[in-house]
Parts: sequence; C-alpha cells; structure tokens
Amino acid sequence: MKDRCGVVGVQLEDGDAALPTYYALYALQHRGQEGAGIVSHDGFQQHEHKGLGLVSEVFSEDDVDLLAGDSAIGHLRYPTSGDITELSCHPYTVNSKRGSIALGHNGTLVNTDEIRREYEDEGHTFSTDSDTEVMVHELVANLLDYPLIQSIERTMTRVRGAYSVTLMHDDKVVGVRDPLGIRPLCIGELDDGYVIASESVAIDVLGGELVRDVEPGEVVVLDEDGEGFESHRLFDERPAHCFFEYVYFSRPDSEIDGRLVYDVRRELGRLLYQRHGVDTDIVSPVPDSGRAFATGYAEAADDVEYAEGLMKNRYVGRTFIMPTQEARETAVRLKLNTVKSNIEGKSVTLIDDSIVRGTTSTQLIQLLKENGAEEVHMRIGSPPIVSPCYLGIDMPTRDELMASDRSVDDIEDVIGADSLEYLSVEDISDGLDMPVDHMCTGCVTDSYPVDVDGESYAREGERGEAGAD
Ligand code: AMP
Repeated sequence: MKDRCGVVGVQLEDGDAALPTYYALYALQHRGQEGAGIVSHDGFQQHEHKGLGLVSEVFSEDDVDLLAGDSAIGHLRYPTSGDITELSCHPYTVNSKRGSIALGHNGTLVNTDEIRREYEDEGHTFSTDSDTEVMVHELVANLLDYPLIQSIERTMTRVRGAYSVTLMHDDKVVGVRDPLGIRPLCIGELDDGYVIASESVAIDVLGGELVRDVEPGEVVVLDEDGEGFESHRLFDERPAHCFFEYVYFSRPDSEIDGRLVYDVRRELGRLLYQRHGVDTDIVSPVPDSGRAFATGYAEAADDVEYAEGLMKNRYVGRTFIMPTQEARETAVRLKLNTVKSNIEGKSVTLIDDSIVRGTTSTQLIQLLKENGAEEVHMRIGSPPIVSPCYLGIDMPTRDELMASDRSVDDIEDVIGADSLEYLSVEDISDGLDMPVDHMCTGCVTDSYPVDVDGESYAREGERGEAGAD
C-alpha cells in the first residue's frame, strides 16, 4: 500500500494539542480523503482516534476532547494502491521497550518489499501491506541500540523513496523530510507552541507564522516546552522536489520551499500564453484546477477575455465508480455544467493543469461543444505525463496514461480538441524558478531521481553525503 497524504505535528506549551491538529487536518483535507487519524501523548500514555472518511466524518467533538496531552500528530490518508481498511489508517502506533512510537507518512517508499522480507525471515509479523509499517519496524529496531536521532538517521539510510513524516517518540514531536525533499514539509510558530505540517495552509488556519520549510534530509524535534525546535541536518544532497505539488496537488494558497503555489501556477499560465497563445473569444479554466493558470494566461493575453465557461457543483465529492459509460457521463454532468452565455457561438481556450488518463479533458470538450462552443483549444500547464509516479502521487500504470504511447497530435484527436499544447519541462523550471535537476520529473521524463526497480535512474553514480549535525 502506497499513500499520498497529509501530515501534522503539534507541540503546545500547555493545553491539548489534538484540537489544533484537528483544525490543521481540515486545512489539508485535499491531500487525503480516505482516512484520518490523530495520536496524542499526555506525558504518560498515548491516546488515539482514527477511521475511514473525511475529517468531519471521523472526528466528533468528544473524540477530539478525549485526545489528551500537549503533544499530538495527525494524518490524512489517500491510498494510491492497496486496501482501504481501518487498520491501515495512520498514524501507526507501536509500544516498544524504548517507549511508544506514533508515525504518519506522506510519500511512497520504493524498497520496503525487500526490507519486509528480511524482517519476516527473522520472524517479525506485519499487520498490513503498508510501506509505512516497514519504516516503523525499522525505526523501532534501531531504537533498541541507538538514541532517537541516530535511529532516524539509520532508518533514513535504509529506506528509499519519498517521505515527509511526523512522528512522536513518547511525547516528543519530530518532523522528518527525505534527503531529496520530494514531498513538502514546513514548520510554523503558534502563540503557544509549534507545528510541523505538509503545507503552510495548516499553519495559517491556526493563526501561526510560517517559520521555514523543513530542509531535505533534515530532522526537526519540537521542544517539549513548546518554545522552539532543534534541527539536525542529516543528509545534504541535491534536492528533487516534486513539480506536481506546485502544478496540481498542493493548495494554491500554500507556500512551499519559498514559493506561493498560486503565483507559480499563474506564472505557468503566462508562459502558456507566451509559448502557445491562440486567438480565441474567451479563455476559461477547468474549475478549480485550471483557475490560477487561466488567470495568468488572461493577464498575458490582453486581447482574450477571461470568462468561466464551466461551473463546478461544490457539493459533489468523489462519485462512486460507475460501471457504464452512460453513468460516467452523468457523473461528469453532476460535477460540471456550462455557463452557456459565455460559450455559445464562441471559440474557447480551455486551461487545465494536467492530462492524466484524458477522461476530464475529453468529456469537458464534448460538453462545451454540445452546449454551443464553436472551437475548443486545450492548453495544459504541465508536460505530457508519460510514466507512473512511484513517489506518492496517484498516477496510474503506463497503460492508463493518455500520453504514455501517443504523440500530442494523437492526443488532440482523441480528446476532440481543435488544438492542444503543453508546457515543456524547461517551462516548468522557468515558472518555478528552480533548476530542472532540482526537481523530480519522473512522470514527464521517464527518468527518476530515486532508484526504482525496472525504471531509468537519473542519478546513477551520484552519492548523497551524510552531513554532521
Ligand atoms: P484525467 O481526467 O485522468 O486526465 O485527469 C486530469 C484531471 O484530474 C485534471 O483536471 C487534474 O486537475 C486532475 N488530476 C491530476 N492529477 C490527479 C491525481 N493524481 N489525482 C486526481 N486528480 C488528478
């Protein structure tokens, strides 16, 4: 089981940390909707509550009240593969000879099958098929022989992949970001404590201040009195930040590694116009994912009117998997409808962040044309997605990816667009103001910054250096 998720850790000077953790999870709900959990520690013991569903479904007021203690961590789950069961909800908890551990993980590890087999050969048992459970096993095994930071360092040396983690060792709250900084993680200061979270929106919701991002390869330990934190930079490697966090996954109002996500998307929209501008009556976003891109596009194109050709029904969440094509089409119409006066008899530039399977763009172009749009020109704020993500974003196998074996011209035909253009990897690098070799571009270049079995490894021959504290 591999997850794309959201994590939180809170240490207060005094008072219950579960409530701010709960609010922070609300702010990060977009990172996972299948399950949620909070584990707190009151100085003597852990308290936990987790379950399947949205934060609002998993927690009642009483559930949060019962989570005593001024330390807490929280997690949101969206499995990219594997079963969805209550057992597999994070944070994982273990009681060991060296104290209690609770751990929540965002990302995916790529070598846990072999580590798991070694443990199983030694007689260890696992209760789920999760990569995170293997990480917890590894950490607990290290804690038998080493102090906490050294145990984390040894665990980080052994596991490979993407991980932004919040963990509690007894009542100590710790944040860990993998050496390549693939997934985001940041630190915030509250009036009465500190918070570590996947995205800065979780700090905003608590009225706190973003202090900084956790650096790639850094471990941050929050002071038990809630007055600061200790930093241990354990690895110093060239980063490989996931560009897709900026393009699609993170909230636009989050600031990640020094960049406001909304501004990045708007800049990419401007680049879309500069590289592939087309003379149409209106430019319209696919709501909500294309909105910031379309805003930038319209700013750059002073002769194209920004108008919303599509509206989203905000009360439709994820619809259940519908077995027939007819039912799937109804599902799209449940979610999206056209604003007829904006599109009737008009040529439309439609902007979205990405094409994965191609379902969304195919159906929306059809919907716009059925409702009177004369032409639909599709512009995409990322490069074609040609290969799967192994590092925590839900992108399927090559067979399911629209661009894995098709040219842009072929895709244009399949989705029924009058024209189709994408941004290039270099455009993404310009828009993010980040060198290409500081990003993970595996899904668009077919070459990964982490050694994944059977895939091309972009960093063959390079070695990360372990740094001193
Ligand atoms: P698709 O319909 O499969 O081509 O997916 C593209 C649409 O889904 C776009 O509107 C994206 O904003 C959105 N999207 C992109 N990546 C993902 C993802 N990993 N999970 C869910 N939705 C996504």
